[in-house]
Amino acid sequence: MKLHEAEAKDLLRSAGLPVPDWSVASTPAEVRDAAARYLAAGAERVVIKAQVLVGGRGKAGGVKLAGTEDEAEQVGEAILAMTIKGLPVRRVLIAPAADIAAEYYLGAVLDRSSRRVLLMGSGEGGVEIEEVARERPGAIVRVHAHPHLGLLDYQARQLVLRMGVGREHLRTAASIAVGVYRALVSNDADLVEVNPLALVRTAGDGSGALSLQCLDAKVTIDDSALFRHPDLEALRDPDEEDPADREAREQGISFIRLDGSIGCMVNGAGLAMTTMDLVKRAGGEPANFLDIGGGARADKVSAAMRLILADPKVRAILVNIFGGITRGDEVARGLVEARSEQTRDVPMVVRIVGTNAEEAGDILRAAAFETATSLDEAAQKAVAAASRGGAAG
Ligand code: GDP
Ligand code: MN
Repeated sequence: MKLHEAEAKDLLRSAGLPVPDWSVASTPAEVRDAAARYLAAGAERVVIKAQVLVGGRGKAGGVKLAGTEDEAEQVGEAILAMTIKGLPVRRVLIAPAADIAAEYYLGAVLDRSSRRVLLMGSGEGGVEIEEVARERPGAIVRVHAHPHLGLLDYQARQLVLRMGVGREHLRTAASIAVGVYRALVSNDADLVEVNPLALVRTAGDGSGALSLQCLDAKVTIDDSALFRHPDLEALRDPDEEDPADREAREQGISFIRLDGSIGCMVNGAGLAMTTMDLVKRAGGEPANFLDIGGGARADKVSAAMRLILADPKVRAILVNIFGGITRGDEVARGLVEARSEQTRDVPMVVRIVGTNAEEAGDILRAAAFETATSLDEAAQKAVAAASRGGAAG
């Protein structure tokens, strides 16, 4: 689950990281009020930023500076009317504008292949890290945190030194890196990114003093750990979640959309993966991974069917149920019901074995479903049905 910048900054602040003050507004008048406060408190300008769950807001015109209340209100109105990469802007963040001397990238991710937390840094901050990785991979510094001891002090110092942080800011930068690491671990995040981590000229005092500040924050919480963080779960923005992902989550169905044309409905994650493999072996491509879970009842089956059919790429559906706790007849009834609600005619091949398979067979035959006994046969029939459907247009 992605957090908006404002909520991500809350987490960073709680972890003790330097984040300049900010406010959130959803109307131009609120933007004006917030700007007025910062300008009255001595800020020369304010920055106004779209709160949408995508990167590259700056490039898309969603990050703007304003020097007066009037200007802030106008900019706020313009940004609040924007849609960035398909997402409508409903809120903006307002903060005193930083006078930036240098921009760094600092991030922590869960690196599954090494089973450790990976810290990444770069002296080329401000731009998206994917872009740096593509064009100048050497500009990214990587350090794996120790699995038990965490990010050790010397590791943090080495990281920021190699990022090009000057000696005078080394200690602060290293403690920020440790803070980023801790924010990731304590919140069960799989990504914490500060971009830019900026060297900022301290406002207006002419002393030329510089300090490091987290000007942007991106945090993604591991969905599987959200139950441990009800306060974070409450921050979920349903507007920005894919409708299919939301329905799947609410129904307790594991669903991942893929690129192929064979919709798969299976119980059990292992069986779902096997089914996908056999679809490929039969010459097809799965349209999704879908695990309806154990003990699924008829209503869950129809919800799964809706999820599969909502994907226009789907040209055939393969249902593969191994009845254990899940009863075959219950699934069969769910399929009959789902087909009666079906808005487009997609061929379906059903294989149900195990608990109450015979009753399931009776129900399916009475309803004229195409059935299969072995999984290979089911996969072949589904792939054949999909290509027939394809030929028919
Ligand atoms: P992103 O494009 O979605 O990553 O949004 P950011 O918050 O990172 O902003 C993009 C860029 O806008 C930053 O890299 C900065 O160059 C610039 N920017 C952001 N905040 C400020 C600020 O307070 N002052 C100034 N001068 N520039 C800023
Ligand atoms: Mn950024």
